[in-house]
Amino acid sequence: MKSYGRQTINAEDERAIIECLRSDFLTQGPKVTELENSVAEFCSVAHAVAVNSATSALHIACLALDVGPGDTVWTSANTFVASANCARMCGAEVEFVDIDSSTGNLSLDALEQKLSQAQANNRLPKVLIPVHFAGQSCDMQAIAKLVAPYDIKIIEDASHALGGEYQGKPVGCCEYSDISVFSFHPVKMITTAEGGMALTNNAELADTMRLYSSHGITKANNSDDSPPWYYEQHLLGYNYRMPDLNAALGVSQLKNLSTWVIKRNALAQYYDKAFAHTEVEPLKHVIDGVSSYHLYVVQVDAQKRLAVFNRLREQGVGVQVHYIPVYKQPYYQALGCQTLANTEHYYARCISLPLYPTLSNEEQDTVVRLITSALSEV
Ligand SMILES: *Cc1c(COP(=O)(O)O)cnc(C)c1O
Repeated sequence: MKSYGRQTINAEDERAIIECLRSDFLTQGPKVTELENSVAEFCSVAHAVAVNSATSALHIACLALDVGPGDTVWTSANTFVASANCARMCGAEVEFVDIDSSTGNLSLDALEQKLSQAQANNRLPKVLIPVHFAGQSCDMQAIAKLVAPYDIKIIEDASHALGGEYQGKPVGCCEYSDISVFSFHPVKMITTAEGGMALTNNAELADTMRLYSSHGITKANNSDDSPPWYYEQHLLGYNYRMPDLNAALGVSQLKNLSTWVIKRNALAQYYDKAFAHTEVEPLKHVIDGVSSYHLYVVQVDAQKRLAVFNRLREQGVGVQVHYIPVYKQPYYQALGCQTLANTEHYYARCISLPLYPTLSNEEQDTVVRLITSALSEV
């Protein structure tokens, strides 16, 4: 038992990569399109743009929504830095919305309050980026309703939540958002090694994101008499393309996703049961939907957290803390970002326990025994 999460690679994944290596395409080829179509179908969404990371996907999503200097983007601080960095990459300001410390997701009360304050101060954000923490979707219907009176776009950072459901629909379907983003980093739900994807139902946003992901270049001819080698650069884009080799792995991985989500949910329930009537508090499941259980997070007494964490690490349990609030990073401190009460409360108490599809109940028993005995001894 090594880490809080790890990838699962089977023989079919290996075959898919070797087959791609022997094909004519290593970078741009049919597997990228196949992965885009497969994920779009899985998520019931119209358009998917595969890129080389979720960070790139968040960046092109912000660019497509025209985020730039003078704009403000809001996100949660209980996330990986990329959820906020994407706005800074566009030259925009970032502000953080507090979380509900029992779920790690954006707090609706905090959002409502911050919106009315921002309206009074004429500082409304251009984009809100809710993060589906640990795999549980934010309450997107409620969030969309809160921002509806203002002209605020929504990007779901669904990096944790591929395979999850909200109100009976797949996370990523963009029912209540403009764009959704997934990560295919090895610790996430499926992997392409490095990789990510931006999904949308808006064809124009999809085209713009695709342009930004590949130098701003389009091959589409504007006139019929242009020569066969013709291409045009329309804006300043990046090379964020996903290689075919990585997409081949993704296509193969996606076939296992539904099984893995079921497995992760069963393992999470096993932990939940074991921690009932103990001082270990698992995150609460509050939405109408299915968590992908990317992470299994518990909270313990803040006074004991460090000692328990160290004890578990010494005993070979790869616990982790998700996340150091983004505003605590020196980069964001230098920008004057403020501390948030619920985020602090959560951060002082959280520990992520091992959870991945090949984890066994016996290994879970060991984790439960070690954490409960550590808590009683420290
Ligand atoms: C992993 C992660 C990212 C960044 O993903 P990459 O594919 O590594 O760029 C962004 N946001 C969240 C919430 C993540 O967990």
